[in-house]
Amino acid sequence: GEYLDRLHKVEPQIRSFLHVSESAMKEAEEVDRMVAAGRELPPLAGVLVGVKDNICTVDMPSTGGSKILKGYRPAFDATAVRRLREAGAIVVGKTNLDEFGMGSSTEGSGFQVTANPWDLSRVPGGSSGGSAAAVSARQCVVSLGSDTGGSVRQPASFCGVVGMKPTYSRVSRFGLMAYASSLDVIGCFGSSIADVAILLNVISGHDRLDSTCSKRDVPDFANELVSLNNLDSKPLKGLRVGLIRETIGEGVDAGVVSAVQAAASHLEHLGCVLNEISLPSFSLGLPAYYILASSEASSNLSRYDGVRYGNQVGNGELSSIYGHSRANGFGDEVKMRILMGTYALSAGYYDAYYKRAQQVRTLIQKCFRDAMNDNDILISPAAPSAAYKIGEKTNNPLAMYAGDIMTVNVNLAGLPALVVPCGFVDGGPAGLPVGLQIIAAAFCEDKLLRVGHIFE
Ligand code: GLN
Repeated sequence: GEYLDRLHKVEPQIRSFLHVSESAMKEAEEVDRMVAAGRELPPLAGVLVGVKDNICTVDMPSTGGSKILKGYRPAFDATAVRRLREAGAIVVGKTNLDEFGMGSSTEGSGFQVTANPWDLSRVPGGSSGGSAAAVSARQCVVSLGSDTGGSVRQPASFCGVVGMKPTYSRVSRFGLMAYASSLDVIGCFGSSIADVAILLNVISGHDRLDSTCSKRDVPDFANELVSLNNLDSKPLKGLRVGLIRETIGEGVDAGVVSAVQAAASHLEHLGCVLNEISLPSFSLGLPAYYILASSEASSNLSRYDGVRYGNQVGNGELSSIYGHSRANGFGDEVKMRILMGTYALSAGYYDAYYKRAQQVRTLIQKCFRDAMNDNDILISPAAPSAAYKIGEKTNNPLAMYAGDIMTVNVNLAGLPALVVPCGFVDGGPAGLPVGLQIIAAAFCEDKLLRVGHIFE
């Protein structure tokens, strides 16, 4: 009840939600009745969760932040949402995002701009900005986002919350609107590591509705954390930590660098073996990512034709319906990505762009594999700066893309990464949070949670 009141109270300033559930209060009262009656409760009974609006929900609209899907109501829940509901969670609403996940500030939503709760004149990050802001402003307890190139980790950093990007294929993508299918993963936000661990447990694991979803066992992330609390004073003794040199150099805010260096020293103090390491392919990630992501998007977004889903504009010839619906429904950034992707895939340019980018992707994967031979985890900033002002980068797509430098490599390699708040820089009424990114080998989310726990 308290959260739901707060959700409505601060929503006019933050604007995290594109849609708020009408039944959440009733569902919460039902849980209260079960508690009063002493009935046995499912693990997430009554936990209020926000869901990014590119994740399908059967009882609420799901627009992907795009006007082309205005009013669209899916006939099914995404697997992650279904599992949350089965565990007793209550979906409080659908959170704002950059259209189809394409952006880094949530200013690219087809509907509204979300404010950063730490400073209302700043962006919450993106594309899962609504999900991060909603947890940060305590409008819900936890939330789901999606991360194709950093969309969970960068907003977690900007909003001062915990954000988890699981290993690619750890969580079913069934019901997640496809942006770049070889990179997309559903992730989660919370205000503590324990919240994120519990949420990850519920949404992870094999799903026959997503043929790419991993069949691997899901460890009990939450339970492992509890047992940690009883350990000795140096729980990370001997853990090899690689601080990625390329992420603390030129172009990165001095305040961000010192917060991350302080975090590294803290780990060392706790018994970790700290190495500064180099990922030689680091700077190749950004161009490769934008070519591959746009290429996949240009194909994935062909399904929005005004016939099968959402808003139809024009009549008569089918080709005219396609043209008008897409011209009207998509925003400028999405159109630009479709054009870039179509160009990169076209005959005559394929070898120079798409194929080359795939080769770079293989190289990046190899560099991470080498680094992981000598290190248990890698650390870096989650973003080169703290949250910036609304409007600051909207006319400069390249500056916006450059802000993804810390996160995109991890998606290209398919690895899991966790962001935890590790300090502040000056700005806003109370300072602006800085996030530490912790990266592990595939399927080692448990390690990330263990290290992240130290920063709480
Ligand atoms: N900002 C990146 C992009 O626009 C990443 C977005 C995401 O992870 N969905 O592609």
